[in-house]
Amino acid sequence: AVRLRGLTKSFGANRVVDPLDLDIAQNEFFSILGPSGCGKTTLMRMITGFETPTAGSIELDGRNVDGVATRQRDLNMLFQSYALFPHLSVYENVAFELRVRRTPKREIDDRVRAALELVRLSAFADRKPAALSGGQRQRVALARAVVGRPAVVLLDEPLGALDQKLRKEMQFELKRMQREVGITFIYVTHDQEEALTMSDRIAVMSEGRIQQIGTPTEIYDTPASRFVAGFIGSCN
Ligand code: ATP
Repeated sequence: AVRLRGLTKSFGANRVVDPLDLDIAQNEFFSILGPSGCGKTTLMRMITGFETPTAGSIELDGRNVDGVATRQRDLNMLFQSYALFPHLSVYENVAFELRVRRTPKREIDDRVRAALELVRLSAFADRKPAALSGGQRQRVALARAVVGRPAVVLLDEPLGALDQKLRKEMQFELKRMQREVGITFIYVTHDQEEALTMSDRIAVMSEGRIQQIGTPTEIYDTPASRFVAGFIGSCN
């Protein structure tokens, strides 16, 4: 679903993402794990198109998107600070993007209902965001991110603002959703335990470089370097 070749980013003389090759399969839950400042967000911003790579190329579902605007890329994203429209109902918040794209009415209705069912908020379709809990609001944002069925959904520390209990709940929900409908997720986190429990594969990043790519078991049992061993080990 995602193919990166030689993707590189420098800010002036400071190279924050070293040339990077990466293939992420369709319906994979792929995490990018690394400490603060390692370049995770910059990598994500290049995939979304918010940041122009210094070198290299990006393919989404076989289509080269170099120079293609974010809106024209077949992706969606969910960040820690997502914003819902306060004056719109849950239903309309989820439907918004489809309406902008002039999707036929009937199809909007089918898709929004399916997305709300997926995040278990069908009963809340008519509520305004202010009448929801924090976790429910986050689920609306999640429904909004998947309703257009993008080739890939990027999540950058999406659960960072939630308390521990909600965080666990949302981890479970994300995993369940991904299994049920088959979504390609790229999940950015600095939380080792989160990456290990949720991912099909993980790329461990430090100082702008991928140190190791593997399944949680591979990364945990056979860390490729001292850095990986230390970083993963610190969750014990
Ligand atoms: P965090 O988890 O703290 O968000 P991160 O792994 O996402 O960290 P990035 O935000 O990608 O890291 O930043 C990587 C490096 O690039 C940092 O040293 C940062 O200061 C630098 N950087 C990011 N954006 C810019 C910019 N617009 N101009 C200059 N330097 C930048």
